[in-house]
Order: sequence, then structure tokens, then C-alpha cells
Amino acid sequence: MAIKVGILGFGGLGQAAIKLLSSKQEMICVALADQKGYAYSPEGIDVKRAIATYQSQGSVGYLESGTLSEQSIKDLISHSQGVDGYFLALPNLPNTFMASVAQEFINSGWQGVLVDAIKRTSAVEQLIDLSEDLKASGITYLTGCGATPGLLTAAAAIAAQSFAEVHKVEIQFGVGIANWAAYRATIREDIAHMPGYSVDIAQAMTDQEIETLLDKTNGLITLENMEHADDILLEKLGICSRDQVTVGGVVDTRNPKKPLSTNMKLTGRTFEGKISTHTFILGDETSMAANVCGTAFGYLKAGIFFYQKSIYGLFTSAEVMPLFVK
Ligand code: NAD
Repeated sequence: MAIKVGILGFGGLGQAAIKLLSSKQEMICVALADQKGYAYSPEGIDVKRAIATYQSQGSVGYLESGTLSEQSIKDLISHSQGVDGYFLALPNLPNTFMASVAQEFINSGWQGVLVDAIKRTSAVEQLIDLSEDLKASGITYLTGCGATPGLLTAAAAIAAQSFAEVHKVEIQFGVGIANWAAYRATIREDIAHMPGYSVDIAQAMTDQEIETLLDKTNGLITLENMEHADDILLEKLGICSRDQVTVGGVVDTRNPKKPLSTNMKLTGRTFEGKISTHTFILGDETSMAANVCGTAFGYLKAGIFFYQKSIYGLFTSAEVMPLFVK
């Protein structure tokens, strides 16, 4: 029987996620939520209708199977039965939002698998603090399961196996999107990493202010030494310390072509004393959405495998192998 999936957040990533699922047999999307409403259909949600409704009316709450709500996540959890797992494609604005959603699930008594694509170290730390509560509630939660952290962190954990000592992990991402408004939260959260900005400042910026900023940079956001949870995920496993991990990248908000090839380089010393570097490069044709959503559902499937064995609590993309969804 197909795994019944809910997607929370129906912006750039949420819509890509439901499109991706429509080509899969092992998973079916039965629940959606956005800021203004939710939809639940146990037989599966019609992808085209959901996207068209969201884009024309601003909420999946206008679907036949939908309901408008100011507390859509809470209402969806209490009105939907048999959802095996949720992909949290939500903005983490403020920086405590994802942890508050996890808390909402804990409070509701719901049991199943949750997967996020959260990015900041301090946000993952808040989820780590919820480990025991998640475990006691019968929730299997996988955090940091996008591209970075996520696919590239998992690749680093695999690359580390060749070495006796890991000296550095360097992650560089290139993202190309035709239009920033398709991924508003992603772009706001990236701006929050720019010198002189913070999560609070980026959250408070109007769309016009973001456009003015992007006009000044010719649509490019260049990021260095970001606060990215890849560091803590690798440190937690004893692979290296967090200060040996660096993450940066370039986002082009006006061109779907990637400005650089996303890559992860791990340098270390083998047991024979040789210094070497493993490199993992993503194909330039793979979009951010393909790399984030594919990975998130791979971890959701792995989470289901754990959940069915009564293994609950918090796990990370660096310590679990994602399972390919057929
Ligand atoms: P978006 O702005 O396009 O969409 C956000 C969606 O969430 C909207 O549908 C909105 O209605 C909904 N939403 C907002 N508040 C809500 C609430 N309180 N209840 C229910 N729904 C709510 O966002 P996006 O660009 O798709 O990004 C989503 C997240 O994915 C961001 O946090 C981003 O940082 C993260 N991301 C991670 C990676 C990675 O590699 N790890 C890559 C890209 C994006």
C-alpha cells in the first residue's frame, strides 16, 4: 500500500514536492496546508487542480477537499486520518517556527514520520532539544533533509569513511531560479545570511524591499561562511568539529541556469598518512527543487522504515541513508 504523505507549505518547494510525488507509485499525497487553509483527500489530491487553485486563489483551502483556516496545520492534523508522514516545506521564519510546528505535532498526539529541509544550525539545535519529547510521543523526525543540509551532508558522511581524520568539509551551492517570488522563503532566508542582515530583518522586509536589494546585486545573492547545520550534523557524529565545515554559495534569482556547480569537498588523512580530497558534484541540470524534494522523500521513506520498527525520536540526514522512492 502506498505511503500516505502530507505536505505542509505549498510555495516553491511544496508545489515541486507534489509534482514529484505524482510520478511515484510508493507515495501518494493526501494532505496539504498553506498559511490560509488546508486540504485533505484520502484518495489523493489532484496535483494540477491544487497548484492552479493555490496560484489563482492563494490557498489550497479553496479546493473541494479544502478548508480555509487561520491555524491550518493544527486543523489539518486533527481532521486528517491515516497520514503516515509529513514533509515540512515551510519557511523557518522566525527561526523558531519549525520547532514550534514539531511541538504542535507532539501536543496533538499524532504519531508518524516528519521530515524537514531546515537550514540553520540554531534551528536544528532547537529540534535536538525536542528529541526526548518526540521519542516519547511516537514520532520519528528526520531533520536537515534537503540539499544542504541533506544530500550533501549525507555525501560528506559517506566520503569521511575513507579517512582516519577529516580536516575540512567545504560545501558550495549554486542555485538558479527564474523568479525570486517562486521561492520567497528560501530567498528571504538566504538574504538573512548576507552581511548586515539577520533572520528578523529579512522576515520584516517587504517584497518591494527585496526587489530593490536584488536590483542592486543584479539578482545575485553571494553567500560565504553561512550558519548552516551541516556543521553540527557532522560534528554530532564525530566526523569533524563544526568549525571545519564551511558552507557558501551563489543564488541567481533571475536565471534558472545554476551560477556554479553545487559541490561538496571533503579533505582528510587516510590511515596510511595520505592527504586527499573526495569531491561530490551535482549535475547542473538538477534543480534545487529536484535535489531538495527528492532527498526529503528519500528520508521520509527511511523514516517510515524506522517508524514501523518502533524507532522514534530525532535523526539527521548525516546519520541515516535515504531510501529511493519508487
Ligand atoms: P515559499 O515561501 O515558496 O512557501 C512557503 C509556504 O509555506 C507557502 O505556501 C505559505 O503559505 C506556507 N506557510 C507559511 N506560513 C505557514 C503557516 N503558519 N502554516 C501553514 N503554512 C504556512 O517557501 P519555499 O521557498 O518553498 O521554502 C520552504 C523552506 O525550504 C524554507 O525554509 C527554505 O529555507 C527551505 N529550503 C531548504 C533547502 C535545503 O537545501 N535544505 C533548499 C531550499 C529551501
